Amino acid sequence: MSKKRVLITGAAGFLGSHLCDRFIKEGFYVIGMDNLITGELRNIEHLFKLPDFEFYHQDVSKYIHVPGELDYILHFASPASPIDYLKIPIQTLKVSSLGTHNVLGLARAKKARVLVASTSEVYGDPLVHPQNEDYWGNVNPVGPRGCYDEAKRFQEAITMAYHNVHGLETRIVRIFNTYGPRMRLNDGRVLPTFIGQAIRGEDLTAFGDGTQTRSFCYVSDLVDGIYRLLFSDYHLPVNCGNPVEITIKEFAEEIIKLTGSGTKVIYKPLPTDDPKQRKPDITRAKSILGWEPKVDRAEGLKITYDYFKSLPEYNITPKEFANN
Ligand code: UDP
Repeated sequence: MSKKRVLITGAAGFLGSHLCDRFIKEGFYVIGMDNLITGELRNIEHLFKLPDFEFYHQDVSKYIHVPGELDYILHFASPASPIDYLKIPIQTLKVSSLGTHNVLGLARAKKARVLVASTSEVYGDPLVHPQNEDYWGNVNPVGPRGCYDEAKRFQEAITMAYHNVHGLETRIVRIFNTYGPRMRLNDGRVLPTFIGQAIRGEDLTAFGDGTQTRSFCYVSDLVDGIYRLLFSDYHLPVNCGNPVEITIKEFAEEIIKLTGSGTKVIYKPLPTDDPKQRKPDITRAKSILGWEPKVDRAEGLKITYDYFKSLPEYNITPKEFANN
């Protein structure tokens, strides 16, 4: 029997590359697509030698052509860190609007099932805590995060329209903060920033007073939730994230302890519209997918720290750094 074929957009990114690994492991033929604006080829380099993997260096916001059949499409192309989407807001808007339209059109032509990567950012700076899927959110469309949040909200709307009008098989995952190996070191997200600062012997920069909260999910748990959702028969949005909540100040202290950096937490101004609290309600994922995260933060952070230390650009001790 020939292998099922899956297209993964954003394949060279943090989540996309882990999804490629999972689908290869599960015996699929994987077609990765990425324009490499924020993705990094080293994340998928190990896959190029495999007969069941191919890669298209292509921008999904432009017309996309994939020869042959497709059974599944996972749309994971998009900048996802506030620093990135502040730098490239127009590409961010395009990839989740025009790009999603292209992906849905392709799925329709190929009679493929499509799963789109949405985000906890659709809840904005939430007035409901924890956030469940029935909450409509509190988003500022003209603030700095508007380009990402509104594009993702549009993405959900057009995905639902294709489902309702064309009967397309669609899935929507709302992803909460996720971490693990292959995060980009310079993407400005809190975890690589803190680990980088700790390794270089610098103080850790908490924004605001550090009392804002996030809930961090280890990447293998998230990938497992996405895999289950794709093969479920549920088309409404499902939150995937780890409900264990922590303040950014406590998180910084954990990183200082983990790395033994001996440095301290310092405070910088809070970016505009930075959500004050974020924690997923995963009741739906539990009941529909039988899914909940398994990896606790201590374990996940250790793996991630070891990964960062292994990278050539991070292979510098605080002492050497101080001497340079
Ligand atoms: N943050 C911080 N210091 C940093 C980077 C981020 O205190 O050097 C905070 C940021 O203000 C936010 C949280 O950490 O409250 C998570 O930020 P991130 O950019 O990782 O993602 P977000 O959840 O805001 O999309």
